[in-house]
Amino acid sequence: MRLPYVDNTNPLYYQRFQPWRDVPRSDWDNWKWQLQHTISNPEQLAEILPLTEEAKERVRHTLPKYKFAVAPYYLSLVDPNNPECPIRLQSIPTEAELHIEAGEMDDPLAEDTDMPVPNVVHRYPDRVLVTITGVCSMYCRFCTRRRFVMDKEGHKERNEVDVICNYIGSHPEIRDVILSGGDALMMGTTMLVEIMSRIRAIPHVEILRIASKIPCVLPMRITDELVTTLKRFKPLYFMTHFNHPYELTPEAKIACERLVDGGIPVMNQSVLLRKINSDAAIMKKLMQELLALRVKPYYIYQCDLSEGIGHFRTPVGKGIEIIESLRGHTSGLAVPEFVIDVPGGGGKIPVAPHYLISQSDKKVVVRNYEGFISTYPQPTLTDCTCSTAKAVETGPPSLHEHGVARLLHEDSISIEPHETRDALH
Ligand SMILES: *Cc1c(COP(=O)(O)O)cnc(C)c1O
Ligand code: SF4
Repeated sequence: MRLPYVDNTNPLYYQRFQPWRDVPRSDWDNWKWQLQHTISNPEQLAEILPLTEEAKERVRHTLPKYKFAVAPYYLSLVDPNNPECPIRLQSIPTEAELHIEAGEMDDPLAEDTDMPVPNVVHRYPDRVLVTITGVCSMYCRFCTRRRFVMDKEGHKERNEVDVICNYIGSHPEIRDVILSGGDALMMGTTMLVEIMSRIRAIPHVEILRIASKIPCVLPMRITDELVTTLKRFKPLYFMTHFNHPYELTPEAKIACERLVDGGIPVMNQSVLLRKINSDAAIMKKLMQELLALRVKPYYIYQCDLSEGIGHFRTPVGKGIEIIESLRGHTSGLAVPEFVIDVPGGGGKIPVAPHYLISQSDKKVVVRNYEGFISTYPQPTLTDCTCSTAKAVETGPPSLHEHGVARLLHEDSISIEPHETRDALH
């Protein structure tokens, strides 16, 4: 796709910004050069983008509270003439961040309470999220973990890694480990490999995931060498984060394709953001282009309740409308799940348009994306037990021991909130 404001038939489109006019391509394509030239204060920013004194002041105001950094590559995608440029809105602070609305929280997902040991969030029965660094290449203005990318400078010490590995090693139910942060790929490759090797060596860990926005914000970090290294840890899934089709530049496409060609499946998680991608046309384009790169759209997140990001939030109905505009209208592969990661640590809850209109014991009534209403007759034989089910079930936790799934078993009648019980006794 051609960016409307960038001549990306010319690979040197960044050169339209004066300070980078003479940067050789070999430097530009080197992620270490990009990091060394990261812009992290309003004065540097003003040298590149024309900023009014007022705008500079706004950036300066928000800095003591929330971190700011953006590498030249990502900043080069900003349209200097559009105050609502989606790249600008994601990366450059505005005064709106200092406005804290009722209900906003420092730790909206209660991750700190779901941390049995530092840096390990163990919320779901069989998988954990590990925060292996507090560093990002670009600090998204809408970040959920903004408390965190701000407080915890730098990478983990060796003894912190010991604690993480000991926890995972002593919990045989953990079969999926997500390396997150911050941005997992902001670590040097040597340290990353050390952590991954230690986790890989734990026999009950079946799959690893890397959560990283790097293909979007610093795609030159995805070198052939890195891919060759990561491949050793298969099965490894790469979870990335694109929010707008303008981010799918030639460089970003190369990064994604390199990973997939290297045998690492790439999944995308977007955040629904007001005035950035809060429109079905934008989301459809993004999902289709990702799919063409073999990047599977996985989740669209409702924006969290972190402090100072109220201006990014959309009504939940906007996300449902977007899914309604995708499902059936385009490849099913391009349709992610829209989820709310609910406050208080309830985790991700899918919210979707309703397709089941009604049902009886004989039939269900369903509708399709066009509004066509049909019926599906229920079968007469309803016993669905499988003779092999017991044989394939290994170790705890049993699928039927927890949650609402338990209610579907004959011997359970209700789930009672603790608060109700406390009130009764
Ligand atoms: C999102 C998330 C996961 C992974 O969830 P999936 O639905 O398996 O992708 C695991 N742990 C935490 C704390 C998460 O936020
Ligand atoms: S890359 Fe992820 S962790 Fe880092 S600032 Fe953006 S949303 Fe937050």
